[in-house]
Amino acid sequence: MSDPFSYEVVVIGAGPAGYTAAIRATQLGLKTACIDRTVNYGGEPSLGGTCLNCGCIPSKALLDASQKYAELEGLAALGIEAKEIGLDLSKMMARKDAVVRQLTGGISSLFDSNGVDFYPGSGRLLSERRVAWEDHEGSTKEFNAEHVVLAPGSVPMDIDAVAVSNEGIVDSTGALGFDVVPNRLGVIGAGAIGLELGSVWARLGSQVIVLEALDSFLPTLDKRIAGQAIRVLRKQGLDIRLGARVVSAAEKKGVVDVVYQDDDGDQEISIDKLIVAVGRRPYTENLLAEDSGVDLDERGFISVNDLCETGVQGVFAVGDVVRGPMLAHKGAEEGAMVADRIAGFKPSVNYATVPNVIYTHPEVAWVGRTEQELTAEGHAIATGSFSFGASGRAIAANDGEGMVKIIADAESDQILGVHVFGPQASELIAQAVIAMEFSASAEDLGLTMFAHPTLSEAVHEAALAIGGRAIHTVNRKKK
Ligand code: FAD
Ligand code: NAD
Repeated sequence: MSDPFSYEVVVIGAGPAGYTAAIRATQLGLKTACIDRTVNYGGEPSLGGTCLNCGCIPSKALLDASQKYAELEGLAALGIEAKEIGLDLSKMMARKDAVVRQLTGGISSLFDSNGVDFYPGSGRLLSERRVAWEDHEGSTKEFNAEHVVLAPGSVPMDIDAVAVSNEGIVDSTGALGFDVVPNRLGVIGAGAIGLELGSVWARLGSQVIVLEALDSFLPTLDKRIAGQAIRVLRKQGLDIRLGARVVSAAEKKGVVDVVYQDDDGDQEISIDKLIVAVGRRPYTENLLAEDSGVDLDERGFISVNDLCETGVQGVFAVGDVVRGPMLAHKGAEEGAMVADRIAGFKPSVNYATVPNVIYTHPEVAWVGRTEQELTAEGHAIATGSFSFGASGRAIAANDGEGMVKIIADAESDQILGVHVFGPQASELIAQAVIAMEFSASAEDLGLTMFAHPTLSEAVHEAALAIGGRAIHTVNRKKK
């Protein structure tokens, strides 16, 4: 009988990056163990990491529910009279928790059916690819691993001026569990978390002030898309204040007093709850023994090359703990790639086509380069755009805000970036990712047939617009 504590692959962390690596490794016939320490409120192991337990999934459960609630206000315009509408927040929260239980349980079943050996508790990389496992009761064991995949993820970043108390001042996890709708809610940071969670609570009735230190809104986004997004979000009631750097927050008798600085000096607001959403940092506490041989970079990320290899042969790191965007799908692709490479295949991750989505309503989604980046580099480009205000399907659905913008190389016509602000942008962007993966030109998209009436036709029309051939809009004259 083989030694039960020797594995071909040991994965530390069962978030999207780690669980994907573990499942793919067993699919490829590798004897695989996965160690994860997350437990739910009942103290039971809960697989899926940040994404399933306190990130992507619970936030989308609340975003979708709160959007349905917010849409009730506009139903009269559609000839629908909905009377005596109420909000049962505890039921909404219970449903969100049930969604999390269902999906974290789903990963457990996938581990069972694929044959991943799951070890609840903490993992630590020792020298020579040995891994120490400590269970939740404090017992320890050691594994010998031919390959180790480190996937410990990330945790919320703090700012010195503001201490998270989990009462009045919370991080993203706290903001997914308020038991009453705060009357006045402050959010520090107009990134994905601030805008998504700010939207949830604004839709449910909070007055939301978002304080963003930078002078520009979502500076990595296409400028035109960012301009449309901030205008629409402000119209929805999000009071987004740019150039607002928070310098202190103090909690007293259920009120949080926040001081921030803008161009006019010190400003003060009093609110009921404050969400700190200023980014996340890689999580490597107690992960690496001093002689593990694995290095961190100056920002605390595990140093890896494009293939997610650390400096130690056979040891890989994937997901939020390594460079690149902190996104579940980016980590999952890295996890799958590493498992495939361990099994002898040679895939790589195309970091040029990582889609990004912010799940506001309308959603913001993009892939590839922006016009401002390319122009700054002196790259000759052509752009085409199409407004959802001219889309038959968007108008029929009463959802005509936003646009699709496509950027192509002026010479070759190859698509370099696609930016969408509009209904179901998260789904539409997949078309752009596929097109870019296949090195499509704007003309390729223009010559493709799209079903009518669909939101996807906006992608088609934006591609046609690059050649001045859009049908349902006036094409801008090209010089
Ligand atoms: P994680 O999901 O953080 O998982 C790491 C796991 O490893 C955790 O379970 C942790 O407990 C465990 N662990 C750590 N150290 C050890 C150790 N030493 N021993 C054992 N276990 C350990 N991304 C998207 O793409 N789309 C979204 O819509 C989205 N929404 C988000 C919303 C919120 C509110 C937040 C906070 C994040 C969101 N993200 C979203 C980001 C996404 O959650 C992360 O990018 C993703 O979870 C990273 O996956 P990972 O596997 O690298 O790490
Ligand atoms: P972020 O980095 O996207 O945004 C943080 C914002 O806070 C920045 O705009 C920053 O300028 C601002 N900020 C920092 N310090 C400040 C201060 N003192 N005062 C005011 N503003 C300040 O980070 P996030 O929104 O916390 O998200 C964390 C990570 O989680 C991101 O990497 C994101 O990719 C991921 N995430 C993704 C999704 C999604 O894909 N839809 C959703 C949520 C989170």
